Order: sequence, then structure tokens, then C-alpha cells
Amino acid sequence: MKLEQLQLKTDYLNFDEEFFHKVAPTPLKDPFLISANELLAKALHVSKEELYTKEFISLINGTYRLKGSDPFAMCYAGHQFGYFVPRLGDGRAINLGSLNGTHLQLKGSGLTRYSRQGDGRAVLRSSIREYLMSEAMHALGVPSSRALGIIGSDEDVARERWEKGAIVLRVSSSWVRFGTFEYFYSKKKYDKLQELADYVLQESYSEFVGRENCYLLMFEEIVKRTAHLMAHWQSIGFSHGVMNTDNMSIAGLTIDYGPYAFLDDYEFDFICNHTDSEGRYSFGNQPNIGYWNLGVLLNALSPLINIEKGKEVLETYSLFFIQKYHTLMCAKLGLDATKDYGKLIQWLLNIMQQDAVDYTLFFRTLSEYETKEEITQLFISKARINEWLDTYEKEIRPFTCKQTMKNVNPKYVLKNYMLQEAIEKAQNGDFSLVNDLLHVAQNPFDEHEALTRFAKATPHQFKALTLSCSS
Ligand code: AMP
Ligand code: MG
Repeated sequence: MKLEQLQLKTDYLNFDEEFFHKVAPTPLKDPFLISANELLAKALHVSKEELYTKEFISLINGTYRLKGSDPFAMCYAGHQFGYFVPRLGDGRAINLGSLNGTHLQLKGSGLTRYSRQGDGRAVLRSSIREYLMSEAMHALGVPSSRALGIIGSDEDVARERWEKGAIVLRVSSSWVRFGTFEYFYSKKKYDKLQELADYVLQESYSEFVGRENCYLLMFEEIVKRTAHLMAHWQSIGFSHGVMNTDNMSIAGLTIDYGPYAFLDDYEFDFICNHTDSEGRYSFGNQPNIGYWNLGVLLNALSPLINIEKGKEVLETYSLFFIQKYHTLMCAKLGLDATKDYGKLIQWLLNIMQQDAVDYTLFFRTLSEYETKEEITQLFISKARINEWLDTYEKEIRPFTCKQTMKNVNPKYVLKNYMLQEAIEKAQNGDFSLVNDLLHVAQNPFDEHEALTRFAKATPHQFKALTLSCSS
């Protein structure tokens, strides 16, 4: 379809005005296309050619309006680093409307009522990171928002230094956050809280619409999806970095990519966000924070559900997490997930941590090794890994096909140093690596002969880069 044929819906605007702020995007000066996502366009039934038109740039810049579009920012609250902030909201994101249940949103498109001290802008660096990483997560089978395109501009944006502004056109099946519920709960507006719950039921949990105890059933599913999301993150070595409740999707998706990182060497306590001095959002603490955030959500839902029943549901979280994590790790190892391999997995992670072994590279090597040497050369202590391998090889199913393991153990993940290289090139007007990395992100299990340097262990000087929240 052509852009002019698309018809958006804006159901969110049927709510009372307290839910949103109708606001037009503020365009950037001299916008240009950096990258467009043809794969996603296809899924949305948008013709590829449309992505390379002036209208597409204008769409992302907010100056071309699709039919039915009525731009608005959403209001929400949230717990940031454990402390409640009564009003946050989309300070630099503007929703355009939805296309068959996929909500289109611009990020970096100017001021809204919720901008607080911010400028409503996003810089090129963080926009490229979000654009590429959301696509990488999707391709790795992790529920996530995605992005259809990214534009850059000549407009200066002040951060620690001057940078250039950019806008990403993000899409998601939902942009409602745990914090959206917290907003109405904290204001004691329980009728609106219920309207929001009914909306979310329709949007993301339609199987429970009209069922008795529908809100409790929905909470149960949110608990399950969140537990599963955490299991995905832990199994692939993804650290989100800012798991505030306003960055937690009610639909159990990965959203709001900021100072995230993939693990280089396996390090349980790795902190990617350098403002997180306490390690609240460290890699290893993510499942605990998922649980903590669900507790906050349960509290916000308390006017709608029996709190004792809600607490029982909340306690199912750890089992959902453990089961899913075990299943995903067994798949990575080519083991039969119906047996308990918890100890074998933990043993492996311990020695990987002791020997500072690249997390992604290890599992990919394990998927293809012919001789033990290929594995042991990744480790400092050959004795330790050999002992583990001896045990492992007795357990591995004889019928486990290498291709099956390769299909779950990516050859490529977007490590921070790779993104940094693409960003620096883009800042100099060369978007080729952004586009190459998009292709890699979308096909992480393939070989990509021209980019095999990115499949190696992270070069020493680039290991464990941490990033600030500034974006
Ligand atoms: P984040 O942790 O990046 O998801 O952002 C937390 C809150 O700050 C959200 O309400 C954002 O909309 C808002 N925010 C972040 N950066 C900006 C900015 N440059 N201008 C306006 N609001 C912002
Ligand atoms: Mg956010």
C-alpha cells in the first residue's frame, strides 16, 4: 500500500483528556533519511518504494499526516530507581495512531505537556541505538517494540555536548506502561483506572474480555509475560539498564531502549547504565526488578482486583521465570528441557564468569565445535571447562542437530562497540554501517561473511562500555 492509502485509528483519544495531550510534532530542520526498515514495512503492508519518498521523511518529521492520524502524547507516572514520580508521560514521544493494532509513535518529535525540563528531542546516537536494537531483539525472538524508520537532521541538540537531533518512527502493539496505571491509582481516579484496564484488555489481552475476574486474569498473564521477558533477556545476555516502571510495557514487551547493553564477557553483576551506581538494574538483578515492578503494578490495580488473590498470582512469577529460563538455556545447550539441568547451567555460568568468556561467542562455538579445543581455547582454566564438557557431552542428546543450536545461538548480537562505530560513521554522514547492522540485526543467526569481525569476542579496549541515560 501507499502511504496515502493508510488509515490510522486513534482509540486512545476516546478517553477523557487527562489520559493524553493532543499535540502536533515539532519538525526538525533539514531532515534526511538514515535508514528504513523494509522487513517491517512488509509486515505492515506498506510498499517498499514508499520508504524512499519525501513523504516518508515528512511522516517521520511530523509534517505529513496519514489519514485518520491525530497526534497525541500519553500521560503516565512511574517509579524511577525505586522512587515514585506522580507524573511523567511522553515527554518526547508523539503517537500518530494505530494501523491494524500496531501503534505508530515518533520519538524525538518535540515538546509535549509532559516534557518537564527536557527539550522533547532525541539525539542521533540514541536514536540509532533504539532503531537497531529493537529490531535485533525482535529477530532474536524477544517480544519488543520495533522501528520503521529513522531520520537525522541538521538541528543541534544540547546534551553533555552538542549533538544532532533525530527522530525514530517506533511501532508497538501497545505503548501502555505499568506507570500508566500508577498515574490513575495515585490520583485515586479509580473509574479511569478501570477504563484503562478495559482498554488494555481489548488491546493486549482480548482473550479475557467479558470473563469473570477479567482483571485478575489479565494480571496473571502480565505476570507470566513479564517473567518470560526476563527469561529471554537473561538467556541472551541483554541488560536493559533503566527498568523503571514507566519503561515496563503492560503487554510484556521490551520498550524504551536507552543505555542498554549486551554482555561482552559473562558477568552476572554487570551494570550498563553508569548512573546506576547501586546496580539496581544490573544484569543479574533484572528478574528481581521485574518482580518488584509487578508488585507496584498490583498495588495500582488493587481497586480492581482482590488483593489477596493478586498476591498469590504475583508469587507465580518466579516459577514462570525459572521454567522459561531453563527451557531457553536448554535450547541454547541442545539439552532436553524436560530434565533438570539447573546445576549444569549454573556450573557453566560460574566458570564463564571466572574466566571472563564472551557470552555470545561461547554458545555459538558450542553449536558448531568439532574438537574440544575450539571450546577450551576460550577459557583460561582448561581443566575447569574440560570437566564441565565431559559432563555435558554425556547429557547432550545424540540427535541434537547443530543447525538447531545455531538457530537459537546468534552469531551476532549488537554490542555497544559495534553500535558506536555505526554511530560515529553516521555522525559523519555515512549510514552504510547502520544499514549493514540492520541487516545483521534482522538475521543474527546467519554468517555475514563481510562482517565476521563482529562475531569475535569484543576487543579488549571496548569491553563493558557503560552509557549514561542522556539521550
Ligand atoms: P526514559 O527513562 O528515557 O524512558 O525517560 C523518562 C521520562 O523522561 C519520560 O517521561 C520521557 O518522556 C522523559 N524524557 C526523557 N528525555 C526527554 C527529553 N529530551 N525531553 C523531554 N522529555 C524527556
Ligand atoms: Mg521511558
